[in-house]
Parts: sequence; structure tokens; C-alpha cells
Amino acid sequence: MKMKFKLLIFCSLLSLFIWWLWPGTLFNDPFSTVIEDKEGRLLGAKISADQQWRFPEGKSVPEKFQKAIINYEDRFFRYHPGLNPWALSRAALLNLKYHKIISGGSTISMQVIRLSRKNKPRTVYEKIVEIFLAVRLEMSNSKANILRLYVSHAPFGGNVVGLEAASWRYFNVDPDNLSWAEAATLAVLPNSPGLIYPGRNPGYLLNKRNRLLDLLEKRGVIDGTTCRLAKSENLPQRPFPLPRLAPHFLERMIKKGKSGQRIKTAIDRTFQEKILTCLSFHRSLLEANEIHNAAVLVLEVSSGNIIGYAGNLPGGDRMAHGNNVDIITAPRSTGSILKPLLYAAMLNDGLILPNTLIPDIPMQIGGFVPENYNLTYDGAVPAKQALSRSLNIPAVKMLQTYGYEQFYSLLRTMGMSTLTKPADHYGLSLILGGAEATLYDLAGIYAGMARSLNKYNESSPGIDKTDLRQKGSLDVASVWLTFEAMVEVARPDEDQQWKSFSSSNKIAWKTGTSFGNRDAWSVGVTPEYVVAVWVGNASGEGRPGLTGISVAAPILFDVFNALPPTTWFDMPEQAMIQVAVCRNSGFRTSVICDITDTVWVPKNGAKTVCCPYHQLIHLDRSEQWQVNSNCESPDNMIHVPWFVLPPVQEWYYRNKNPFYKQLPPFRPDCSSLSERKNMEIIYPKNNSKIYLPVDLDGREGSTVFKIAHRNPQYLVYWHLDNKFLGITTQIHQMAISPPEGIHDLTLVDQTGETSKIRFEVMVGK
Ligand SMILES: [Zn+2]
Repeated sequence: MKMKFKLLIFCSLLSLFIWWLWPGTLFNDPFSTVIEDKEGRLLGAKISADQQWRFPEGKSVPEKFQKAIINYEDRFFRYHPGLNPWALSRAALLNLKYHKIISGGSTISMQVIRLSRKNKPRTVYEKIVEIFLAVRLEMSNSKANILRLYVSHAPFGGNVVGLEAASWRYFNVDPDNLSWAEAATLAVLPNSPGLIYPGRNPGYLLNKRNRLLDLLEKRGVIDGTTCRLAKSENLPQRPFPLPRLAPHFLERMIKKGKSGQRIKTAIDRTFQEKILTCLSFHRSLLEANEIHNAAVLVLEVSSGNIIGYAGNLPGGDRMAHGNNVDIITAPRSTGSILKPLLYAAMLNDGLILPNTLIPDIPMQIGGFVPENYNLTYDGAVPAKQALSRSLNIPAVKMLQTYGYEQFYSLLRTMGMSTLTKPADHYGLSLILGGAEATLYDLAGIYAGMARSLNKYNESSPGIDKTDLRQKGSLDVASVWLTFEAMVEVARPDEDQQWKSFSSSNKIAWKTGTSFGNRDAWSVGVTPEYVVAVWVGNASGEGRPGLTGISVAAPILFDVFNALPPTTWFDMPEQAMIQVAVCRNSGFRTSVICDITDTVWVPKNGAKTVCCPYHQLIHLDRSEQWQVNSNCESPDNMIHVPWFVLPPVQEWYYRNKNPFYKQLPPFRPDCSSLSERKNMEIIYPKNNSKIYLPVDLDGREGSTVFKIAHRNPQYLVYWHLDNKFLGITTQIHQMAISPPEGIHDLTLVDQTGETSKIRFEVMVGK
């Protein structure tokens, strides 16, 4: 009885002692940050806060290494309770015999404890503590977990801790792909980590490895051939750098507070490598033009997951050209890349139909003078074509109609996080690159549009789909029509490069180029993926030839070619209606429109206004002259629908559209009210010669041209040799310095009245 009582007390004290010794967590060391692809393959890593390559625990220990380490360190690991009395006694005898520590007789469990206690000096007390804690460890952990702890925290030489980091540093492979020779090399290291240093005792390490391989053969783990082949493998020479497949994404995750974690991403390593290869290929072309930065972001539409992320060009002189900057999150000027969103928004609100004519004539609003890229004017263009040709003036006209304040708030609702200033700050320039966007937001916006369209089309046909539209977002019909219009983005056919862009898949895409050729963008969408590309200089330096179409689009198409084949969006028929539109104007037909087409438009398309351009005009029987009731009896009149654009639009439009028929003149006996000239050129006179003086600095001087207009408040459009010069109102004069030679000056007022003169310039000496 007394004996039992003593035993009880002893056991209680022992438990208390172990409880007191047992730390809450065994290891508190900071881990490296590790980033993995969707299948757990390593994309990159960042050294831990204490400058160690110590990967977070997590992965199970691969088979080969398990066998190697257990045979080398602790043969009976799977069977003992944490300590191995036979090994301990053998070690004690050996140590006594040689009067120094030859062997610790430690089990792997005891070594886990020893590692967690930071390798305290080897004393008998410490040994006893290790034994107790090892037993305690065994009681609360599976063998697999104990082995995993050991393998994650064992030293492998230098600043390499744990098997995973060691595998990558010494053999540049995932631990699962270690050969027997490699597994054996790594298995002997935790015991003598110093051996791995290059040039230090290579023979000694080789001996240790080969002895272990022999042991494995002897114990029947590997066969003779495997052993022989393994022994012929070389030892590692110098540490490999860790993979750097997504360094910017890794940094971004660290900024988001994921430091020291194992970050699982949706990136596909093989695809990511293809993106980097593609960027490396383009790098030489870009560098020849002093362009040093580029970024690619690829999203999967269905999940919104990032499946490819290249924040900048791989490799290169990172310090000199800012290649460490993650461009994907950097706000950059948008150029034309937001135009499809305005097109969609106007379809959505019933303000346009796809082919509605939009004015394309010179405009100036205060100091804001938008110009098309090619500096010409079409008079009027279908909205869809204005988008695919990325014309600036129609875009500004559209934004005027839609309202920049509304567009600003729509962009914010859709996820553009960089509109930090009030709407008035951007004004109408919002559509021409006046604001900044990130590749990240942009790709997200397009992916959101594609996703809503997919979801709508995938939902069962019978149900009422009106609820499927998210509040504040664009309706699916507008999105579909916008993507359809983006398929037809103009590709300059004189550009040889474009021949290699032949993609068999239908892709909605758009490019953008910011003011001063500083930013080149391209975005492409399919039902499966969004690819967004930016090219430029992180420094902000513009380069001639840095345009979306010439440098960003080629990368976009290369990336799409590296993706699996894509499909195309179904038409969301239930969200659309068929309407009759005027073929000439693209508006809904009025009763006068003669040629009409039936097209699918968003339901809101029914709200759009009718064609304002068709007029019913009255001709005499010859159909050559316009007449009215003052000069012709209604019985002799023929009433003809006529497509008439507003005067200034007409003036530009008829140059580009030979089918455009101007109104016939009034028959001379009917013309009492018309044909009165309102505008006259005062200086120079027709067929005159002008002598231009040369200024003191050697440049040609200018001379002031003047005109008179009966209605000074009218706008007058000035053109020299068919090139637009500017608009005047109230005071109709302009300083012009034409070069030597013969020139044509053409003036068009807002009613379309035209005056034209020819003059010759002589430059004085
Ligand atoms: Zn019409």
C-alpha cells in the first residue's frame, strides 16, 4: 500500500515536471515565404526574417528520403516509444570507452526535441530532459508528424534548414523528385551539416553517402544496380538559386501579410513559364527601342483566379530599369483602353445602337482639343467602328452624351480603384487617358463582364433572368455586343508583324496608348480567360513606336496562343430584342428611312431615338431639282427620302463615303430663299501671291488670314490643303505660315457653307 502510494506521488511529480518542461509550441522560428502553383509546385521563395532558407512545415516526407533518414539515423523509429534503450546503452558504453562523445544514441524523436531546444550543451541533465520530452512528443503525435517535424527543422548546412529548402538549394528539384543518391546525400547532412560547404571534405561526404547507400542495399531497401548507379552520381557543386517564376506576386502576397507562409496560388507553373519565355523573347525587341518594362496578368473568367502573373520582364538589370517594380498594381495612364466600357454603358442605357452614327468632326471644348490618332475626320462613323478604330473624337462626343460624371461613377462601381480625384478633375479626358488604371483592376473589370455573360447563358433557359443582372453592372446584351465589336479591332495590314498573330480563336481585344507614348496596353477576353498586357518604361519615359498595337498586342496574342483553345460567347437572346434600324444612320428607323435592317439589340435599344437624318425632299419630275410649293404644283412633285447629315459632318463624310449623295440644288426659279453666301474670305484673295518674310532667327514668318461671316457666332472650320487647322468663332482670323508653293484654303461653317481659295506663297530672302 505504502509502496503504491510512493509510486503515485512519483508519477504525479514526473507528470508535473514534464508538463512544466513542455513548451506550448516546439518551434517558433520564422519561415521563408513560399509560393506554389495550383498543384503545389514551387514558384519561388523569400528568405526568412532570420536569413534562413527554412520552408514552412506542411509537405509529407517523400518515400526515398524517409527510408534514407530512418536507416541512417534511427532504424527502429517506427517501433520505439521515443527512446531506444539499446542505442542509448551502446552510446554510453562507446562514450565511456573513448572518453568523448562518439554517439548520442538519440532517436529522431529526441532530435526533434533537441532541435526545438536550440541544441543546448550535451549534458546528462539535458539528455534526460530530451528523453522525457521525446516520450511526451510520441504520446501526442503520430510517427509521420514527428518525422515531418524533424525533416522540416533539421539543419542541412549553411543557412539551409529543412529538407524542402535543401532539395531546391542543392539539387534544384522538388523533394518528391530526389534520386536515391540525392536522398542519401541529404540524409547524412543533418548530422554533419558542415560537410556540404563546397570544397570542404568532398571525399568525406561522398564516403558517408556511399556507406548509407550500401547500408540501404544491405537492408534490401534498394537493389544492387540502383546502389551502383546511385554511387556513380556526383555530389552537388554549388547551391542553386531558388526558382523566381513569380517574384512580384510573391512580394505582393508578403505585403498582404502572408510573410512566412506557404502560399498556394491558382497559377499554373507550366503556363507561367510560357509567359516568362514569351516576355524574354519580346524583351530583345523592346530593348532595341529602349523599352525596359512589361507586365502580363492572366485571369480565369469562371473563378476570377489569377493563373498567370508577370509583374515585369524577367531577369535583366533590375536596379537600372526598375524590373523589381510590380507594374500589375502600378497606376498608369489608360490611353484608349476604357473606350469599350463607354460603348457598353451607352448601349446599356439605350443611348446608342451598335451602328449609330457618331459625329467625327473637329472639336474644341475650352482648351481641350481632342484629335484622332491619324489626325483626320470621317464626319460621322458608326459607334461600333469608332470603337474598333479607336477614334478619339467620337469617343469624346459619346462621353459628352453619356456624361463624364456618370461614367466616372460607373468605372468606380465596376472596380477601378485608382480614380482618386473628383470627376471634374478628369472631365472628358477620362475617355482618352486622363485617368490612371492598374492592369489588375482592368483585367478584373473585363473578367467580371465576361463572367456575368457566361452565368446568364449557363442558367437554365426557362427561368426569369431579370434578377440575374447585378445591381449597378452592365446588362449582358450590352456586354455581348461590346465583345462582338472588340473582335473587329482594326489590325493595320501593312504591318508585317500582324501576320504572325493569326489566332484561330475569336478574341475580343482592345489596345491603348497613352499620351506621349508612355504606356502601351492591350486587353483580350474570351469566355475562359482575360489576358492583360502593359508595356513601357517604369520610369515613365515615352518612346516613339511605343503603342498598344505594336508592342502590347503581339504579347497578348502570344499569351493567348500559350493557353488552351478558347470558345466564344453565346448571344444572350433572352436579354435582347430585334429592332429595325436605318442602314445609313444606324438609328432606329423613322417613317422616312428607306433602307432598313433588322438587328438584335439590348432591350433598352427600344428606347433609342429614331433616325434624325432622313428627310422627305420634294423634287420636280426631272428629279434633278428640289422644288417647293412656291414654284411647283404638288401634283408635279416627287417625294423622295434623302439621307442628309448636318453640314459640317457632311463636308467630311462625303470625302470618305463616295455613295453619299448631296441634296440636289433648288430649281433656279425656286431659289429665292437659298444660295445666299454668308461667308467671305477677306485675306488672301483667290489666286493671289503672298510674300512671307523670314524672321530674324531664320524661320519663316506667318501671316494673318481673315474672313467675314454674317453670323460671327457661327463656328468656322479652317483647312489648309485639306488638313484641319482649327476652329474660329466671333473673330474669324488665324495666323498661318504655309510653306513656299501653291495652297488651297477651305473654310466650312457650321451650316456646311464652304468657301475655297487658292494662293501661292513666296518666301522672302
Ligand atoms: Zn434613316
